[in-house]
Amino acid sequence: MKILVTGGLGYIGSHTVVELSNNGFECVVVDNLMNSDSSVLDRIQKLSADPIHFMKRDLLDKHQVAEVFELFHFDAVIHFAGLKSPAESVVNPLRYFEENLGTTINLLNEMQRNNVKKLVFSSSATVYGDLTEPPVYEKALTSILNPYGRTKLMIEEILQDLSKSDPEWSIAILRFFNPIGAHSSGTIGERPNGVPNNLMPYITQVASGRRQFLNIYGDDYPTPDGTGVRDFIHVMDLAHGHLKALNYLSNHSGNHIFNLGTGKGYSVLDLVRTFEEVNGVKIPYKIVDRRPGDIAVSYAAPSKAERELGWKAERGLNEMCEDAWRWEKDLVKPSKSF
Ligand code: NAD
Ligand code: UDP
Repeated sequence: MKILVTGGLGYIGSHTVVELSNNGFECVVVDNLMNSDSSVLDRIQKLSADPIHFMKRDLLDKHQVAEVFELFHFDAVIHFAGLKSPAESVVNPLRYFEENLGTTINLLNEMQRNNVKKLVFSSSATVYGDLTEPPVYEKALTSILNPYGRTKLMIEEILQDLSKSDPEWSIAILRFFNPIGAHSSGTIGERPNGVPNNLMPYITQVASGRRQFLNIYGDDYPTPDGTGVRDFIHVMDLAHGHLKALNYLSNHSGNHIFNLGTGKGYSVLDLVRTFEEVNGVKIPYKIVDRRPGDIAVSYAAPSKAERELGWKAERGLNEMCEDAWRWEKDLVKPSKSF
């Protein structure tokens, strides 16, 4: 099967391409390198069984999207490309609406025109907002805390309307919880530009001495140790979930929503302590005010994915911390810097 992977040089996309290639899928990556760089292509190529095709194209430009579909015939598309910072989306909502909605509409139009009607879309647990006590099931009410989350929910609704309009569409909407970790080889991982927003890249940068200490946003939440609780999931487990979703779409039409999480909640301090223990490094931290928009606790009910996709997260917190640290150490080695 030939798969178009948009945003395939980004954090989750790069791991997914490796997983797909090593399981017999042929991958064509389209990425404009807005949040990645071409060295990732060499790295995923070394980890992959077969050649990875790459086109540097911007999905916001419909002519560039059309060009991709003229060159290849795809069996399915995995759509990762987009912007992903909730905080940035509050400051610049129009950029988020234009980028996340615009790229998706261009892609869907071209898919329809070329009769490619199988899609796996990267949504987020953020669409659940703060209405439901965890564990959250896919049927839970949605609520929006920022423009980023609104773009994800709007796209989910567009996909719902699309599959109602034409029963030939087969769509899997995957709501990711908190992906962390890296490929066990240490050659690909998360590489945020500037100051990391997310917890794990901040921790690894403190561990490597790139930052002095971690700010922990609040220790007065109603949780066992007062810090926020999240469902951290290894990025390779998430990558494997995409393979399972593609298999599922080969014999299921319509629109299907799945949580991809472990079903377990760990606190910010749990993660910090596990990282220190398994890697033998110290993470100095300070407790600071809560970060606006954060919720206390979020973790998935992942039973639907297990039942229908035959997918379950396999890797634990220790492995997530070891792999994240191996990647960071690789990044800071002078000979391997980008
Ligand atoms: P990422 O930024 O690492 O990867 C996105 C990739 O898309 C980048 O390589 C970027 O260069 C590319 N891209 C962006 N705009 C593009 C455009 N117009 N044309 C072509 N390429 C473009 O992000 P990620 O962490 O891998 O996330 C992938 C998807 O998963 C995103 O849609 C994100 O919203 C969603 N998601 C991520 C998380 C997370 O914590 N990382 C959680 C939930 C959902
Ligand atoms: N967090 C933190 N310090 C940081 C980044 C995050 O204490 O520098 C906390 C944040 O308040 C939340 C958890 O870590 O409780 C996960 O945050 P992240 O931004 O990684 O993901 P989110 O769940 O917000 O999507």
